[in-house]
Amino acid sequence: MTETVGTTGSSAVESGTALRLLLVGPPGAGKGTQAARLSEAYSIPAISTGDIFRENVKNETELGVKAKTFMDAGQYVPDSLTNDLVRDRLAQPDVADGFLLDGYPRTLQQVEELDDILGVAGSALDAVVVLTADTDEVVARLLKRSAEQGRSDDTEEIIRKRLDVYTEQTAPLVAVYQSRGLVVEVDGLGEIDEVTGRIIAALASR
Ligand code: AMP
Repeated sequence: MTETVGTTGSSAVESGTALRLLLVGPPGAGKGTQAARLSEAYSIPAISTGDIFRENVKNETELGVKAKTFMDAGQYVPDSLTNDLVRDRLAQPDVADGFLLDGYPRTLQQVEELDDILGVAGSALDAVVVLTADTDEVVARLLKRSAEQGRSDDTEEIIRKRLDVYTEQTAPLVAVYQSRGLVVEVDGLGEIDEVTGRIIAALASR
């Protein structure tokens, strides 16, 4: 697992303020990179379902074996498996003062599940950060990452499949959170620091 828990004292928000964030965006928009930065800036754990699945695949756990087939095909892991994993993770004590969920929820059913986990329909979330990025740019980024890291879920065909799945299944979530007044849309293109700065500024001006 690559959860990053920031140190106390450098929080960009008042200490003691729980901040519960979601990070949404197409594959390749830089969610993982920004999640690590935001985790440090706000001293909250970043929870990436993709990282948790990859760790399980690497360790050949029962969950990993089941998830791998879907991940390798560029599809989503079934909600039943994903929801249980997130429910368990959000029961850990380190999320008491806030968290950043990276890559969850991704389906409308997962939105309902998260509402249920958080107890009060959506109101426990502070903001949903939506990272936007141009399709050609994210394809280029993912092909580069694939070559550098040898990720088996990142061939061009699979990348395009994952982008289609995002458009079909995850993009509609933005409207749901928009209707709750939670969406903060940020351009994900540019230097890493620049994008982090944009997100922090956008959250501060809410
Ligand atoms: P990511 O690193 O967030 O792009 O996730 C990598 C892969 O893990 C995805 O393509 C899915 O197969 C799976 N995955 C991650 N998060 C979820 C989720 N919330 N629901 C279903 N599948 C997921």
